[in-house]
Amino acid sequence: MKRRLAPAKVNLCLHVTGLRSDGYHLLDSLVCFADFGDYVSLTPAAETVLTVTGPRAEGVPTDGRNLILKAHEFFGEAPEVAIELEKNLPAASGIGGGSADAAATLRLLSDLTGRPVVENTARLGADIPVCLQDNAVRMQGVGEVLTPIVGLPQMDAILVNPLKGVSTPEVFKALVHKKNAPMSHCPQGGSLSEFLNWLDQQRNDLEPIAKELVPEIEDVLDSLSAAALARMSGSGATCFGIYADRPSATKAAAKIAADHPGWWVQQVRLN
Ligand code: ATP
Repeated sequence: MKRRLAPAKVNLCLHVTGLRSDGYHLLDSLVCFADFGDYVSLTPAAETVLTVTGPRAEGVPTDGRNLILKAHEFFGEAPEVAIELEKNLPAASGIGGGSADAAATLRLLSDLTGRPVVENTARLGADIPVCLQDNAVRMQGVGEVLTPIVGLPQMDAILVNPLKGVSTPEVFKALVHKKNAPMSHCPQGGSLSEFLNWLDQQRNDLEPIAKELVPEIEDVLDSLSAAALARMSGSGATCFGIYADRPSATKAAAKIAADHPGWWVQQVRLN
């Protein structure tokens, strides 16, 4: 049996810089990864089946709609495997979920067969190439132009989701300003406060629209007001708060979870 973490991806900022003639939006985003996520395991079997377990399994498809099975198909002549997905990340929440699971599946199949992960994974989903990365990366184009960013500080953070799913296509459809400025040059190798000063000047251009679709996002951001920086990830509704140190993050996570028992609250380390 082979098992892998499919980490949550967090868009520390996400600028929409243009629209391609085929309708895809051009993005400029700084993406990092959490030390928390789903787990995907593969065991050689007579036929390929997917089972989904874990606290956030409800409603996740186990048939061909699941990106894990699409990734298995996409790998090409993949061996038959029993796949178990331990679902810890809320679905449709802007932190990668299905794309992270698909990327983990491709890497597990690569480990199992000794064949490299196939190219052009963007055809499987715009977020798959970025989820195949291990470390922070600047994502441009429609998600396929990736530049590693080294020297980001380790960040103690909380992820908070009001458990309201957001449809990514719906958010992009409602976008009015499609040609915003790209992110400015990211400082690498500096202190946390220097990095956060820079990050504070960047944006998530999808946040205003997602807030209109899901007003609870405003409440989530309010709950993170004690953080050094709080913002929405991806197309939402998950927001992250970055804290000065681990004890501050732990204290804030406990308070938010107690004040909002219906929300998903997870302390993480981002890098
Ligand atoms: P992104 O951050 O890339 O926009 P997301 O977190 O918003 O992704 P997903 O968690 O991938 O979105 O879920 C989007 C939809 O995809 C879900 O509503 C679900 O029906 C379907 N889906 C397919 N495969 C998976 C999977 N492995 N895990 C969760 N949802 C999946």
